[in-house]
Amino acid sequence: MGKKIYLVEDEKSLNILLEKYLQKEGYEVTTFIDGKTAMSKIKDMPDLWILDIMLPGIDGYELIKNIKQNNINTPVIFMSARNEELDRVVGLELGSDDYLSKPFLPRELVIRTNKLLERIYGNENLPLKDNILDINGYRISKNQRTVFCGETELQLTNKEFELLYFFVENKNNLISREQILINVWGNNYFGSDRVVDDTIRRLRKKVDGINIETVYGFGYKLVYKL
Ligand code: CA
Repeated sequence: MGKKIYLVEDEKSLNILLEKYLQKEGYEVTTFIDGKTAMSKIKDMPDLWILDIMLPGIDGYELIKNIKQNNINTPVIFMSARNEELDRVVGLELGSDDYLSKPFLPRELVIRTNKLLERIYGNENLPLKDNILDINGYRISKNQRTVFCGETELQLTNKEFELLYFFVENKNNLISREQILINVWGNNYFGSDRVVDDTIRRLRKKVDGINIETVYGFGYKLVYKL
């Protein structure tokens, strides 16, 4: 599956053009034309944000602050046509991972995006390669939906598997129940968030070599030490 990209650009024609280029590259792209709507979707935790700096209402600086607060590891590419040097410096200070000054060729954004995602996620976004995560002696295969501990295959339910994969992908990050619900159960789940606690309790028993800590009043954290 293609990586999920959220793109914020208020110039409509550029927004559509960039979306097309990124989609053609195999990415799953969601676009926004204002900062406020984008702000409300930060908890979705896409694999990459591409932000225009000058936006009506909430600007790119405000957005990146909140994105990085939500998860410091989420990569962000800034685009700007303003005082370029200043924007670049401020952007980098706020944690942006790459910067493009307008005007640029759409293809350039695609190349930067590929490079950045490859640097951060490895080659796992190549469609034929399995997404395998190794942690504490466990081998988790996304394509096969299997978890092996040495030679032994663990029997996990669908949700237990997705929850485990989500935790390992976001290891050492604080994750709220809300984030877990959105990412594992989806936006359309309206049941109690107790389901998260129950599934984690079962997961801890089955995968006891991985340390998922409860962070009281907030959520959970997979604690991983090299
Ligand atoms: Ca703009």
